[in-house]
Amino acid sequence: MTDANAQPLYDTFARADLRFERGNGVWLTTESGENYLDFAAGIAVNLLGHSHPHLVEALKVQAEKLWHLSNLYEIPGQTRLGQRLVDNTFADKVFFANSGAEALECAIKTARRYHYVNGNPERFHIITFEGAFHGRTLATIAAGGQAKYLEGFGPKVEGFDQVPFGDEKALKAVIGPQTAAILIEPIQGEGGVRPVPDADLRALRKLCDDEGILLILDEVQSGMGRTGKLFAHEWSGIKPDIMAVAKGIGGGFPLGACLATAEAAKGMTAGVHGTTYGGNPLAMAVGNAVLDIVLADGFLDHVQQMALLIKQGLASISDRYPDVISEVRGRGLLVGLKAVVPNTTLVQALRDEHLLTVGAGDNVIRLLPPLIVSEEEMREALSKIEAAAARLAPASRQKIA
Ligand SMILES: *Cc1c(COP(=O)(O)O)cnc(C)c1O
Repeated sequence: MTDANAQPLYDTFARADLRFERGNGVWLTTESGENYLDFAAGIAVNLLGHSHPHLVEALKVQAEKLWHLSNLYEIPGQTRLGQRLVDNTFADKVFFANSGAEALECAIKTARRYHYVNGNPERFHIITFEGAFHGRTLATIAAGGQAKYLEGFGPKVEGFDQVPFGDEKALKAVIGPQTAAILIEPIQGEGGVRPVPDADLRALRKLCDDEGILLILDEVQSGMGRTGKLFAHEWSGIKPDIMAVAKGIGGGFPLGACLATAEAAKGMTAGVHGTTYGGNPLAMAVGNAVLDIVLADGFLDHVQQMALLIKQGLASISDRYPDVISEVRGRGLLVGLKAVVPNTTLVQALRDEHLLTVGAGDNVIRLLPPLIVSEEEMREALSKIEAAAARLAPASRQKIA
């Protein structure tokens, strides 16, 4: 693979040299038969682990009947999943897409259209926060505002005003007659597992109400039970006007959704938005199966229990190896370790222990176990983290440049 031209794929990914053949629960097995504990979970996608029997069954049954229809016809599974999401959230309306970025595109369009049909077409600006990640389409890289993702792709899509994370003054200063909405992740995921304090979310809600602007939450990573509630914003008691969901909602089947109140979605009338694949019968069968499990009695309690276990274990490890891990943060099973050594070194050391994790901004690594992780598996992960920390500890005194 030294000659980039010798392989057929775009060179956009720096892939680890690992080839997995199958997965079962929290475990992945390589072609050569080695087992890895998967706390990357396809970047928070494999919510119920690999090969979950209920999901496999739902996919197989639907595969024998009907895969795809387009949205030219009624799709009963779509109405059902939509209704179940409405019944369990703030939302009155749902639009299904295939990814997080598409769910965000719908959220952004919904907010702009709301002000447009209210007679305020000049209100199309969306306020976002430094360190945010909302996807890789042209609009969502503009929303995320990260130079490394914008560079070389032409003019930045207009109408995104970015302010520093947690800077209320800067936020208030940027609100104007052009402002349509505030867009925020309740916990920045790729930005380095930075939670927005509950009090700040409540203040944002109030600010939006006072200014007549919409609150859009990006719960693509934090949603679907990952924090121990169905959606992370529930911890703060607030409700958004619009919310983007993806990743865990399909448990590994590409699926995204944009949820909104009836008021916020009132501009999204027949023909103004669309999708070919979004909400197709296969995706809906799997999405409904995921929700069966996540909404079952006791499921979110299990997530909260596992979250407590990992938090306590990691606190103890970071106390004993402060030269390797300086901070444990996040909520539920969206956990960040602030590394003292370069985070890539820590990810590699954990991989050497056969534990998979994901890097993030701010020199953080993310632990995103499938929510079905057992107490025993959690303890095994903690002992792998401990072993990696012990191995890195002496060398880490050199610190990062
Ligand atoms: C992953 C992610 C996205 C983008 O999702 P894709 O499915 O990759 O388009 C958007 N927002 C957040 C918070 C994410 O974590």
